[in-house]
Amino acid sequence: MHLVSIIAFVLIFAAAVSLFVINIRKILRNINLGKDQVINDNTPARWRQMVLVALGQSKMLARPIPAFFHVIIYVGFILINIEVIEILVDGFTGSHRTFMDVLNFDGFPLYNIAIAFFEVLCVLVLIACFVFLYRRYISKVPRLASKDLDGWPRKDATYILLAEIVLMTALLVMNSADHALQSTGFNFPISTPLYNALFQDISEGSLHTIVLVAWWLHLVGILAYLNYLPFSKHFHIVLAFPNVWYAKLTPKGQFTNMESVTNEVKAMLDPSFTPPPLAEGEVMKFGAKDVNDLSWKNLLDAYSCTECGRCTSECPANQTGKLLSPRRIMMATRDRMEDVGKSLDAKGPGLADGKTLLYDYISAEELWACTSCNACVQACPVNIDPLNIIVELRRSMVMEDSKMPDALAGAMTNIENNGAPWQFSPADRLNWATEN
Ligand code: SF4
Ligand code: SF4
Repeated sequence: MHLVSIIAFVLIFAAAVSLFVINIRKILRNINLGKDQVINDNTPARWRQMVLVALGQSKMLARPIPAFFHVIIYVGFILINIEVIEILVDGFTGSHRTFMDVLNFDGFPLYNIAIAFFEVLCVLVLIACFVFLYRRYISKVPRLASKDLDGWPRKDATYILLAEIVLMTALLVMNSADHALQSTGFNFPISTPLYNALFQDISEGSLHTIVLVAWWLHLVGILAYLNYLPFSKHFHIVLAFPNVWYAKLTPKGQFTNMESVTNEVKAMLDPSFTPPPLAEGEVMKFGAKDVNDLSWKNLLDAYSCTECGRCTSECPANQTGKLLSPRRIMMATRDRMEDVGKSLDAKGPGLADGKTLLYDYISAEELWACTSCNACVQACPVNIDPLNIIVELRRSMVMEDSKMPDALAGAMTNIENNGAPWQFSPADRLNWATEN
């Protein structure tokens, strides 16, 4: 490779990595808009949970067909990237197939076997991508054809599948036209038949050009993909791991107490109790009205959402035609974070833009449709907890804004007056036991 190519490679690589770091910092800044929450208990269980759910994709198995094709793309993504390491080394050193001589040692063609394996994976990934496109656009699986995904989310999913197809094709074309690879005499399962069919009669110079174009296409494609990730739901390939590690270990139905309420009750019962002081400028809040009232874990959840819709397809409220979609709750939370982040980048008002997650991004009707059943939490392949966000927003509506459905308002009044949700005086409680 010429010196000019090496310099071009280094500059493109450095620019791509710098841009990626800048965008990751913005995402971290957005996640840190959330409230502090210390999660460091029971680390062995957390590692186990991460290995099973994130690495082992155990929850995907509930739907075996997409699980099978997802695993192909996932394994392909990890293993084929080993070949990308060689592409990077070649780019930095100006060499070609750096690992070939190192790994094809003493007559044992380890390098060739690895490339042959990657080629098979490439084809499987291509098949998986076409299956996923089929499911989205031809068989129209309801959770993927849902209006939740209208606009950018649907385009995003399609762009990623198309990008995978381009990257895999470029890799196979590069291997097929690569004279150095084919002249090892090894029978590669994909590139050798392709070479025989397409490139056998082409001059070595032309083959070299085809390899170079495919090499650059693959490299630039990967760097572009890297920089696209922070703007895409596909960032879950990174965030799924920490998100599952930090996910709740307690039983799903166990709700958190509100610290502000607990402190007030403690102060009422025990005059010697002093609630922890608020930070300067901080006001006591109940529940969450905006993203800064949620915890950073809630916000990490939103960035980790794969928009797969498994939660919504299991949600009884959604199934019975209510407005609620737990997937949309996560997408709206992410949209709000992104809008606040963009405003901060533009030196705008940020959180003080006159909007809030509650009401402007998520409506009261959606929130009150939730039955708190936890089906969405159970269904989520990356242990996201939409219910926790729903509960925090509802707490704010009730305790800060005194807004709630009429049926609930009646029950609340009864609890306040009668100590029970029914309209009977406490004095009449034992009437049921009176003999007539
Ligand atoms: S907890 Fe709420 S949002 Fe989740 S599945 Fe049940 S009803 Fe739907
Ligand atoms: S919350 Fe989980 S189940 Fe729901 S769309 Fe996101 S990743 Fe899928």
